[in-house]
Amino acid sequence: MSNPPVPPATTTKVAIVLTVTPTKTTRLVQVRCPHCHKIHTHGWPYPADVIGHRVSHCRSGGEGGYYIPTPQEPTR
Ligand SMILES: [Zn+2]
Repeated sequence: MSNPPVPPATTTKVAIVLTVTPTKTTRLVQVRCPHCHKIHTHGWPYPADVIGHRVSHCRSGGEGGYYIPTPQEPTR
């Protein structure tokens, strides 16, 4: 019961969530990229409960994605 969520695929890299910034229309999630180790920002629309898999901004061609674990939201 206390096990954390497991990423869906072992070959999928996992990004580290740094900050979540709510705006009027979406949430902006800053992550540490597991590919280039720089910071990328992704949109996280409000109806979505989880962030999930995203394509990293530093890659092209569809093989540079990663899984973003859903952070806790203290206020909503
Ligand atoms: Zn990157």
